[in-house]
Amino acid sequence: MMTNFQVAIDGPASAGKSTIAKILATKLNFVYVDTGAMYRTITLATKKNGIAYNDEEKIKKLLSQTEIRFEPGTPVQRVFLNDTDVTDEIRSAEVTNNVSVVASFADVRSNLVNRQREIANSNSVIMDGRDIGTTVLPEADIKIFLVASVDERAQRRYKENVAKGMTTDLETLKHEIEARDYKDSHRQISPLTQAKDAILVDTTGQSIDEVVSKIANIIENKISF
Ligand code: C5P
Repeated sequence: MMTNFQVAIDGPASAGKSTIAKILATKLNFVYVDTGAMYRTITLATKKNGIAYNDEEKIKKLLSQTEIRFEPGTPVQRVFLNDTDVTDEIRSAEVTNNVSVVASFADVRSNLVNRQREIANSNSVIMDGRDIGTTVLPEADIKIFLVASVDERAQRRYKENVAKGMTTDLETLKHEIEARDYKDSHRQISPLTQAKDAILVDTTGQSIDEVVSKIANIIENKISF
């Protein structure tokens, strides 16, 4: 029997990581772990508890009282903060624009990295995030670094928002994406960076199907090898 297999997908904001990872996980029957959703959930818990996003001490105490649970759902996996379904709330603009500050704190990172490793210890996983290939699963079987031009990433986010009935300005989205990437790439602890052994996949101008089949081939070759 095959031991647990680990696929790490990292990259900047809105590069398509979760879309691609979800499809691949279903195809391969692996567990999909959305680590960004975990950082978002801690950020939402911070807000719900009336704690300032930069109050590292209070956020540190919050970690032990914050259970994060994923449940299968259609079309999207559901995310629970303790017993509350926060799947939609963690995607709000407020959480999106403050998550990078909360995610920069050492205790937040070590706590969530431990939870992520626990899941990978008992399942074959496709895990997406910013530091999976470099820090969380440095021995991952496959590491993908997914990128796309910032214009295309802003366009994709814009279309997603339109589909949800939200009106947002394209230029504002572009600036928000750039600001988040900057913070994620310049923090002290495990900043966003391509692992030395990661395969770079540029999705600019590529369809979801094209990207999925490219990465599925890489994974299937490795499994059969
Ligand atoms: O992937 P997503 O855009 O949902 O991630 C939200 C934020 O969570 C990122 O901008 C980053 O600040 C943080 N994050 C992180 N490490 C990860 C995954 C996400 O710091 N592995």
